Amino acid sequence: APALYLVATPIGNLADITLRALETLASADIVACEDTRVSRVLLERYGIRRRTTAYHEHNAQEAGPKLIEALVAGQSVALISDAGTPLVSDPGYRLVGEALDRGIRVVPVPGPSAALAALTASGLPSDAFLFAGFLPAKAGQRLTKLESFRQVPATLIFYESPRRLAETLAAMVEALGGTRRGAIGRELTKAFEEMRTGTLSELADHYAAADTPKGEIVICVGPPEAGEDQPADIDRLLLSLVAEMP
Ligand code: SAM
Repeated sequence: APALYLVATPIGNLADITLRALETLASADIVACEDTRVSRVLLERYGIRRRTTAYHEHNAQEAGPKLIEALVAGQSVALISDAGTPLVSDPGYRLVGEALDRGIRVVPVPGPSAALAALTASGLPSDAFLFAGFLPAKAGQRLTKLESFRQVPATLIFYESPRRLAETLAAMVEALGGTRRGAIGRELTKAFEEMRTGTLSELADHYAAADTPKGEIVICVGPPEAGEDQPADIDRLLLSLVAEMP
């Protein structure tokens, strides 16, 4: 049936794809890929030969309307990203909004996402979580963003590049306090999969001393605990006291 299908694909291990995802890809009129070269590996592995087209953040302006046109004309479009669930730190949000506005059916075909894979294996509370995607690269903006999460009573989930992991953990210690529990998920579902858990201070110390880790990384941070030391609070309190001093 003509619809915009949002199809989750593996986050590393090519076997992590659902039967329904394969059926949907094999029967789509158009497979819209973030990077057609990346997706070709997956499609070839499963013998799927469909028309592919690129849809990514740099061509969305032109590619989006063309996909909508195809959908309006009764074709089915499967949207996939380079890895995991499309729209999760990946393109597609505008396309889905546009499709819904036009009365086009939008169908999720769920599957892997690095955020949930990390959360479930982190040992951190999973009843409430906030997915925060990538933090800003600039130190000041990153700190402000982290501070905005300080009182959120939920496990926080971030994507991060290995290059920035150590400095991001240091910023987390500064903004959230060092005593919170954290977990680093690296290369999930792949040959060198690793979960490292500890307090934020322990994790920051570990990665400050270690070589830059290789591969893809998710950072999970546990919710604030009652009575935990929150340095940012103390700083604020001291500043307000200083301001009132004669
Ligand atoms: N749409 C994807 C999803 O559902 O997980 C995420 C896309 S985002 C552009 C890519 C980031 O996801 C990576 O930089 C990394 O932080 C995280 N990631 C993807 N695959 C991963 C894996 N196998 N292990 C750990 N993190 C992963």
